[in-house]
Amino acid sequence: MRLSQKADLAYLAVRRAIIEQALTPGTKLPEDRLAEQFGVSRTLVRAALAQLASEGLVSIGNKRTATVAQPSLEEARAVFEVRRCLEAEVVRLVIQRWQPAMGAALEGHVREEEKAAAAGEVTAGIRLAGEFHVKLAEMTGNPLLLRYLSEVATRCSLILAVYGRPHSSDCAINEHRELIDALRKKQAERAVALMTEHLVGIESRALITEIVGSDADLSSILSRYAQAVEPPRAGVPMKRAAAKRAAGSRK
Ligand SMILES: [Zn+2]
Repeated sequence: MRLSQKADLAYLAVRRAIIEQALTPGTKLPEDRLAEQFGVSRTLVRAALAQLASEGLVSIGNKRTATVAQPSLEEARAVFEVRRCLEAEVVRLVIQRWQPAMGAALEGHVREEEKAAAAGEVTAGIRLAGEFHVKLAEMTGNPLLLRYLSEVATRCSLILAVYGRPHSSDCAINEHRELIDALRKKQAERAVALMTEHLVGIESRALITEIVGSDADLSSILSRYAQAVEPPRAGVPMKRAAAKRAAGSRK
C-alpha cells in the first residue's frame, strides 16, 4: 500500500469511527499513536486530522492536541437549521429530476437499513441512515449541494453522539419509506413536509444527556475501523475519496 493510501485509510477509518459513535466526543487522538497505528508520518496524520477538523468532526486545541469534537448546544441547533433548509430544497429538486431508477435505488437502501436494524447492528444503522440523506442529495445532480449536505449530515451524527441517547439511531426507517412514496408520486409539498417533520424528529431525539467519555482502547477501535474501510484506489486524493464514501459508492 502506498503512503498516501495509508493516509487516506487513516482519514477514512477515524471518520467512520466518529460517525458510528465508536470514538466518542472528547476522545483524544494523539498524532504519534495514529501515526504508529496506520504506519504513516505524523505530518500525514496531521493533514488527515486537519481535514476532519474542517468537517467539524475533530477539534484541534492548544499544542495541536486533536480530540473528537464536542459541538455545543448552540452549534448543534445551527447545524439542524441548515440541514432543514438544505433538505427541503433537495426534496424539491429530486422531484423535478425524478427517474424511476431513483425509487429502486432508494428502496434498496432502505432494505439495507432494515436488515441492519433486524440484525441489531446499531452502528451500521446510524451510518446507513445518514447515507440515505446523502443519496438523496446526490440525486439532485448538484455537487455543491451534495457536499454541503454530506458535511451537515455527518455533523448531525456527531451531535447525536454528544446529545442523543447512546446509539440512538438517527432516522426512523418507516419515515424514509413514506418519503420515497411522496417522491414517486411527485407530491412536492407532502415530501417537503415529511422531510421537515423527519428532521425535527431527529433533532428532538437529540436529548441532552451527560457526556460520557469512552474508556475503550483507541488502538483496538482504530484497527477495527482500518479493516472496515476498504483501501482507497490508487491516485484518489483524500478529498475525492471522502466524497465518494460520503456518496455511498462502493467499488
Ligand atoms: Zn432519515
